[in-house]
Amino acid sequence: MSFENYTDEMLKQYIIEAKKRLGSRLAIPAHHYINKDLVEIADFAGDSYKLAVDVSRSSAEFIVFCGVRFMADGAKVLAGENQHILHPEPAAGCPMAEMIDEETAEKAVEMIGKVCDREIIPLVYMNSYADSKSFCGRKGGAVCTSSNAEKIVRYYLDRGQSLFFFPDYHLGHNVAQQIGIDDSLVVKVGRNLTLEDGKNLKEGKMFLWDGFCPIHQEFDDEDVLLMRKNYPDAKIIVHPESRKSVVNLSDMSGSTQQIYNRIAESAEGSVWVIGTETTFVKRIADTFTDKKVLPLKTSPCKNMVKLTLRNTAESVKSVEDYIAGTGSLKNEVFVDKNLVENAKLALQKMIDIVEAP
Ligand code: SF4
Repeated sequence: MSFENYTDEMLKQYIIEAKKRLGSRLAIPAHHYINKDLVEIADFAGDSYKLAVDVSRSSAEFIVFCGVRFMADGAKVLAGENQHILHPEPAAGCPMAEMIDEETAEKAVEMIGKVCDREIIPLVYMNSYADSKSFCGRKGGAVCTSSNAEKIVRYYLDRGQSLFFFPDYHLGHNVAQQIGIDDSLVVKVGRNLTLEDGKNLKEGKMFLWDGFCPIHQEFDDEDVLLMRKNYPDAKIIVHPESRKSVVNLSDMSGSTQQIYNRIAESAEGSVWVIGTETTFVKRIADTFTDKKVLPLKTSPCKNMVKLTLRNTAESVKSVEDYIAGTGSLKNEVFVDKNLVENAKLALQKMIDIVEAP
């Protein structure tokens, strides 16, 4: 069966019916930034952290992951031996996750350690590939998300340890400010492995890789000031992958899931300006029609849109063919066993820190 002449409605119908046929053997998680049609038919939707937790709790044999590649990678790390993870579009990567790899992270930590003459712990944002997470696992570091980064950074700093935070500079910078770390102790690490001038390197507490999300870095101070002027009654909420100055000019910041929950819980008639990915902002506006929801600026993720009803239907179809013995799984995700072991350590460390009383 080919989906060549299928309309979106027909593709949707096929996936819904296949889900009924496969029952609990199939699960479809979808990230919040994925198109609305896919989110509607998904088994669970959320940000990268929520999806990681949902996947780790799922016993489905086949997981068709509608998100970018690092998320499907992460699902594989958390999956059981008998679970197959399929990523419908392997070309859907993440430019931020690609701004560093294990080898470069290791060189950065060694270089900083030599300059500061002490051990530096690597801490990696969830938006990264398995090799980066694995590096943190084998060096006693952890993974963090935008909602728990503050708690995890504090955990290490309270023990007198200094951190190499990667790949997102802005998230690290915003967390450092939240914690109240003096700016002289927050050091940018250039992609050519240079350390920012004018900082106190010997005492440095957070060394931040110069990576960024192109979608959130798109927002600047003028965008906030303009929306503030045009919508004086609006509350402005932005994602912490935005620049520190943008966060400071806004009323609040929060992870994708926190933004969703904040709008869901807000009063009828309230006005919101949201600084995050456009597909998500549009869906919030369509979902909570009793509120006025506006984007801070149009900034869609070019990779998230690569996940479509068509390539998802093709992945689901390959599961049906595989079970029937007439075909193989399409775009199954594989991660090296050693990377899985160490990446799991870093993820477990995150859970232990977050759940500690
Ligand atoms: S929104 Fe940014 S961090 Fe998320 S997948 Fe797109 S580029 Fe990567």
